[in-house]
Amino acid sequence: MNDLKQLVNTGRSHTRHGEAVQFQEGLYQLSKQCYGWMVPNGSWGETNIGLIDCHGKSVLIDTCWDLHFTRQMLEGMQPVIEKSPIDTVINTHSDGDHCWGNQLFKDRNIIATQSCHAQMHHMKPASLSALQHSCKALRHVPFGGMNTFSNYMIDMLAPYQFGGIHITEPGLTFQQEHSLNLNGKDIVLYEVGPGHTSGDAIVYVPDEQVVYAGDIAFIGSTPVMWSGPVENLLRALEKLQSLNARVIVPGHGPLANSNDIQNIIDYWHFVHENIHQRYQQDKQPHEAASEVLYSKAFLQSPYARWSCAERMVTNAFTLYRQWGAKLTNLPEPMGTLDIMRKQAKVAHQFQQQTAH
Ligand SMILES: [Zn+2]
Repeated sequence: MNDLKQLVNTGRSHTRHGEAVQFQEGLYQLSKQCYGWMVPNGSWGETNIGLIDCHGKSVLIDTCWDLHFTRQMLEGMQPVIEKSPIDTVINTHSDGDHCWGNQLFKDRNIIATQSCHAQMHHMKPASLSALQHSCKALRHVPFGGMNTFSNYMIDMLAPYQFGGIHITEPGLTFQQEHSLNLNGKDIVLYEVGPGHTSGDAIVYVPDEQVVYAGDIAFIGSTPVMWSGPVENLLRALEKLQSLNARVIVPGHGPLANSNDIQNIIDYWHFVHENIHQRYQQDKQPHEAASEVLYSKAFLQSPYARWSCAERMVTNAFTLYRQWGAKLTNLPEPMGTLDIMRKQAKVAHQFQQQTAH
């Protein structure tokens, strides 16, 4: 990112989660008309947002997890959007940290895949607000791991304000592929899900060789697979590589190139193979994940240096479901919260262990 022009720098020395920044937050010019609002270091909700200037109109790729950070981003994008106001918003998928700022664009064109649209209401902003409040009370309950879970969720959600957010749906949905031409600028949307979520899309700007990957790509932090199957996620990553883009904007973390994408492909092969071994030994998914995290193969791998290693737990659950394992089927969002409870425990133990 060092050789790219940074137009706006927020000057933050620490991330929203209190870590020292690994790259400067702000608006970067990636090519003639493509921009990225890059948010260090790429942890929970530290989501990168895309902007394409189409001579008088702009396309925004994703919105932030809450209205405050969406407004802050819009302020930072002023050098571009004062001349080319945002006309169209594309949501790469339905996770809140990519579409819960949509309501600030309710009178604009909002585009997403049909599956993304269908999944948008699965998690409600009010549920996360309630969770923030209840976790504050439960963080002192040293019973059933409630304190560990509460602290994990409080840390994850602390920077964000979910009050007043209304899920704002896309007005236009597509399947497989959708081409957009705005003032002569070609933009291609490829549906690559299900994988990370059920409705993932990537956004490609052919004449500038820039691709906005959404959460198919995490750089420097551990990728998550909420939906699967893993084979499809691998296909999505290969599709990303096949575009031969000069710049790849990941959903989280610094700008990427093809080698970085290869590392993610290798991670999924590693996870698939190692979790499958434990699945065949009838281990529970969170036990399998924990064992893999402590294995020599993992600790000596590059993935051990990525943040949020505990996401291996979610990834193991998704793989087990894919393989037809009989897991308790709690209604959403209870199912996800139950996995997060197990993930919090593994995170707590793993951080303690690796801190020594
Ligand atoms: Zn995300």
